[in-house]
Amino acid sequence: MAGYVCLTFDFDAISVWLQRNMLTMTAISRGEYGAVAVPRILHLLKTRNIKSTWFIPGHTMETYPDLCLEIYKNGHEIALHGYAHENFNLLKPEEEWYIMQRCYDIAGELIGENPKGFRSPSWDLSSRTLDHLQKLGLLYDSSLMGNDFALYHCRKHEPISATEPFSFGAPTKIVEVPVSWSLDDYPHFEFVRMPHAIMQSSHTPAMMYANWYDDLKYMLRDFDEGVMTVTFHPQVTGRGHRFLALEKWLDLLMHEEIRFCRIDQLVEAFNRGKKLGQHRPL
Ligand SMILES: [Zn+2]
Repeated sequence: MAGYVCLTFDFDAISVWLQRNMLTMTAISRGEYGAVAVPRILHLLKTRNIKSTWFIPGHTMETYPDLCLEIYKNGHEIALHGYAHENFNLLKPEEEWYIMQRCYDIAGELIGENPKGFRSPSWDLSSRTLDHLQKLGLLYDSSLMGNDFALYHCRKHEPISATEPFSFGAPTKIVEVPVSWSLDDYPHFEFVRMPHAIMQSSHTPAMMYANWYDDLKYMLRDFDEGVMTVTFHPQVTGRGHRFLALEKWLDLLMHEEIRFCRIDQLVEAFNRGKKLGQHRPL
């Protein structure tokens, strides 16, 4: 059964270290490296004629405007990802709305068209975020994990009680393109020492890509036109051994019955009634 693969790149650059209040020269330089890796990734995608979706914080768009425009000119989608990689749950309502509007304007001015999608920094929406997306006329979010290969409509956030059954909110117009930490390069590879925690990971790429390949094989076997969304960070995947592994994985996927697709194009097809990710085991 045929399916789709959405390659997504979160070009956090310096913003992700700002968010963690890691402001020393070395921490900031880890973010700078992301911008070094972007042209290499663009070249790789061009050689395979693959279009993808890039979630870019406003801080990165204003710090690297030429590079972000280059991504767009290469035919990739530019979507929103906060300003300085803020955790939206820690913001006051007016701060969140201000940031959403500001980033929407920054992206629109940069690329000359309205962005259509959003991914919350660190994949944590606030209870207000969906309202903001609808007010701005965005079509989709890509931060939730309520499915794997099927797009669905986000539901309004309802208060949760430990003494009552869960209440499912009413569906909104915002389409969810689900993600997963297991389909994200960051937790597989990066070492981060934070004030109260350590993310200690430096796995070999072979293990991650073997898992991702099996996810794809399962999707193609049991789902009609499923969508597999994977998340990369240029400052992570740009490192030599990971970059070579990405090349190999893309070349392996060229032999499968899939199409690489930008998220906005799939969401528009979904909104026109296209069925995506129907479970139909043989
Ligand atoms: Zn990010």
